[in-house]
Amino acid sequence: MKRYSAFAVAREALRNHKGWGRAWAAPEPKRHYDVIIVGAGGHGLATAYYLGRNFGITNVAVLEKGWLGGGNTGRNTTIIRSNYLQDPSAAIYEKARSLYETLSQDLNYNVMYSPRGVMMLAQTQAEVRGYRRTAHANALQGVQTEWISPARVKELVPIINIDGPRYPVLGALWQARGGTARHDAVAWGYARACSAMGMHIIQQCEVTGIRRENGRVAGVDTTRGAIACDKLGLVVAGHSGVLAEMAGFRLPIESVALQALVSEPIKPCMDVVVMANTVHGYMSQSDKGEMVIGGGADGFNNYTQRGSFHHVEETVRALVETFPMISRLKMLRQWGGIVDMTGDRSPILSKTPLEGCFINCGWGTGGFKSIPGSGWGMAELMATGESALTRAFGLERFREGRFIDESVAAGVAH
Ligand SMILES: Cc1cc2nc3c(=O)[nH]c(=O)nc-3n(C[C@H](O)[C@H](O)[C@H](O)COP(=O)(O)OP(=O)(O)OC[C@H]3O[C@@H](n4cnc5c(N)ncnc54)[C@H](O)[C@@H]3O)c2cc1C
Repeated sequence: MKRYSAFAVAREALRNHKGWGRAWAAPEPKRHYDVIIVGAGGHGLATAYYLGRNFGITNVAVLEKGWLGGGNTGRNTTIIRSNYLQDPSAAIYEKARSLYETLSQDLNYNVMYSPRGVMMLAQTQAEVRGYRRTAHANALQGVQTEWISPARVKELVPIINIDGPRYPVLGALWQARGGTARHDAVAWGYARACSAMGMHIIQQCEVTGIRRENGRVAGVDTTRGAIACDKLGLVVAGHSGVLAEMAGFRLPIESVALQALVSEPIKPCMDVVVMANTVHGYMSQSDKGEMVIGGGADGFNNYTQRGSFHHVEETVRALVETFPMISRLKMLRQWGGIVDMTGDRSPILSKTPLEGCFINCGWGTGGFKSIPGSGWGMAELMATGESALTRAFGLERFREGRFIDESVAAGVAH
């Protein structure tokens, strides 16, 4: 793989960009791999990457039914933060956030990580108590966050109205090193690095069945034929229940559409990410100038990857008191992705009842931020059978009642 560099950009500029190679190969599937990962979203690709980088396991295929990064990874609103309440969550999200800091250098691919700061507004007394508590928990966990006053909120976000009649801003939980990254670039960067290690990324290859022999995984059936493997990772977000059924077990997961929208591009007016969880809305400004806006998940289970007009209305109505300027914006486009929600709003990174088969799912509305940490932990779990990062997120917690309750951190928040 040719390295990307300032020198390479200058050289290609001089020869009309004719010398760039393909970012990743498009190989035919082999008959057998040591590891198959189903799902070429961020989590599947990061798992494959760290299997190779940290454990030298490179006889790996990542199978994708559509195009890589075309699921939630390419549809999310790119918020990165690690200000969760429970210790296991803070550990994996902070691991991810810290990996994001140097991800562009590690992958030799510009993922445009922008630690511009993330603010979660408190607009009720219950939120004040909840976020103060999270700030204390974060201090103990070594995650840098702080509780800030309404005046400081206004200083950081001049366009905000802190004196709303229904929901005045009472303060905020502020994480200065939270921010955003370019979602496609995260998938593309990992894919390119996996391909450079000799791994096979096979697109347009849907897994239709899971082969089992004597209680162990033996391989998968796909739209491009049967492929054998020693270990299998299911990393398919909103389709986790479908794949689990193929493997013969059930998951405590619900699949729902989560929607977002962007406005027409406008001049720079807000250089932090703001989340307003009481009213169910959040907003940031993209590098192109669009206001990126999202809200809550659909109230019913579904597999539609579409946006809907009622959602635009609900979300904009929720935000307009706090951001009066959005009443004058034209909306440009909207979309949806299928997210997988657990009851405690924490993910599942786990062995499964089928030996050799592992699952990574349940990131719900907030799994973009965790991609590097999740891949790191999942790779360790698959390679060695154990990982300190994933230990608390096993499937058995639902049977044992050992929930990792993140409903405050992850209810509407992304
Ligand atoms: C509108 C929206 C906004 C969001 N905002 C944020 C945010 O701001 N911050 C944040 O942290 N998170 C956010 N999220 C959540 C985040 O996008 C997801 O948690 C994360 O992208 C999940 O990544 P993944 O790799 O697990 O899944 P995906 O990216 O969905 O990848 C799974 C892949 O599996 C493939 N697949 C499914 N079935 C099969 C099969 N049978 N065979 C082969 N392949 C299969 C799919 O095609 C898909 O490409 C948001 C999500 C949405 C929808």
